[in-house]
Amino acid sequence: MTIKIFNTLSRKIENFKPINGNEVKMYSCGPTVYDYAHIGNLRYFVFVDLLKRILKEAGYSLYQVMNITDIDDKTIKRANEKGVDFHEISLKYEKIFFEDLEKLKCSRPDLAPRATDEIDFMSEMIQFLIEKGYAYERSGSVYFSLASYPEYGKLSKLDLSKVKVGARVDVDTYEKESPGDFALWKGKKDNEPSYKMPFGEGRPGWHIECSAISRKHLGEQFDIHTGGVDLIFPHHENEKAQSEAFCGVKTVNYWIHSEYLIVEGKKMSKSLGNFYTLRELEDRGFDYDSVRYMLISSHYRAQLNFTITGLKAAESTISNIKMFVQHLMAGGEGTVDLSDMVREQEKAFFDALMDDLGIGNALSHLFIIINNINSADPLKVNAATKEAVIEAFTRFNTILDISQLEMTESKIPADVNTLAQERHQARLDKDYSRADELRGEITEMGYIVEDTPEGFILRKMDE
Ligand code: AMP
Ligand code: ZN
Repeated sequence: MTIKIFNTLSRKIENFKPINGNEVKMYSCGPTVYDYAHIGNLRYFVFVDLLKRILKEAGYSLYQVMNITDIDDKTIKRANEKGVDFHEISLKYEKIFFEDLEKLKCSRPDLAPRATDEIDFMSEMIQFLIEKGYAYERSGSVYFSLASYPEYGKLSKLDLSKVKVGARVDVDTYEKESPGDFALWKGKKDNEPSYKMPFGEGRPGWHIECSAISRKHLGEQFDIHTGGVDLIFPHHENEKAQSEAFCGVKTVNYWIHSEYLIVEGKKMSKSLGNFYTLRELEDRGFDYDSVRYMLISSHYRAQLNFTITGLKAAESTISNIKMFVQHLMAGGEGTVDLSDMVREQEKAFFDALMDDLGIGNALSHLFIIINNINSADPLKVNAATKEAVIEAFTRFNTILDISQLEMTESKIPADVNTLAQERHQARLDKDYSRADELRGEITEMGYIVEDTPEGFILRKMDE
């Protein structure tokens, strides 16, 4: 299967083709581990998970490296405020980060090197860049010279007339309006961890971290580089400049970026009080599958406006899916044959995913299956239809990975299900005394029927 994907470098949707046959090498910018990941960060990591699953579905084997930024301005500041070593902060939040990934069913990268374990390699690159005239030392720090690298600005479409020759920036993040020679190495400061290198004592800048780690573990040229859109400038522009100046070749073929998550229409920030972590959503009673579904179900190149109402909608959508699965698994002995329809929609689901990760379109095919079968009545479809749905949904779930889509054989006997259907109809007809009678019968048979806005769910009493 061919995947089409939007490449930030060309600003076009391209046919994806790996450098080396079937093997895909991917580098993903990882977390800065100084605090809990917020829901915006998690949107990015769920997007990376979706991309990985689609690559595997398309038949590629994948090797993914993701850095852990365990030394940076924010981590050092936090450690100094608390009076602890910065490793104490970074190790704590790295652990929590991987727990969050697991809760959201995002598979781990094959390798997740910490920046502080790779400093020798960063130093080697910096030394080479100095020797070749791409970088220079000033007041104990080392800067990359934009003037030495004419390709600078191509990824972020920077207006090079804005570059003031010789202007320097020391901070890791800055706006496109103030480009300048950026720090590869930051000279030693009081109260900051430092490392002794031939070009001076200090610590690495953020951008060199990803150039060094990707080159060390993936080689000079690899297929995919991912990040959130906020990383296009300056982080990826700088990374590209350093890596390409060092390697002398185009290092990354596909730059893939996911859009931002905003909250109730506004940029998420602690001061606005609209900052959510996974824990906070858990404390509000949401389960991980609802959060995963909410994050995965909007297209990676569209901004995601997170709202609690939207999360509740995701929760009710997946509970509808669960209800459908339960009804279908209790049936499948009727005569209505919809198996061809199911297979067509299954194919359309995957075709949509291969087209620039078209998840919205893909999900619409899942709902066509549900709606068509619901219209015919899940208890009346034949065994071939049931089999086709089991196959399709099992495949869908290799991508979506939500428990509601698991096609486990129903433990609900068909006669209990029929009584529940009758009761549901009685409620629709406002015949509440009949509905109560039927509930009594269902209870006597050892089952509990729960009403939802869309229908009902059955459970065995002791489960
Ligand atoms: P950080 O831990 O800050 O280095 O960020 C980790 C990843 O989360 C980066 O790829 C960012 O682009 C991404 N990210 C940060 N904030 C948001 C947001 N509000 N929405 C989507 N992605 C984000
Ligand atoms: Zn990076």
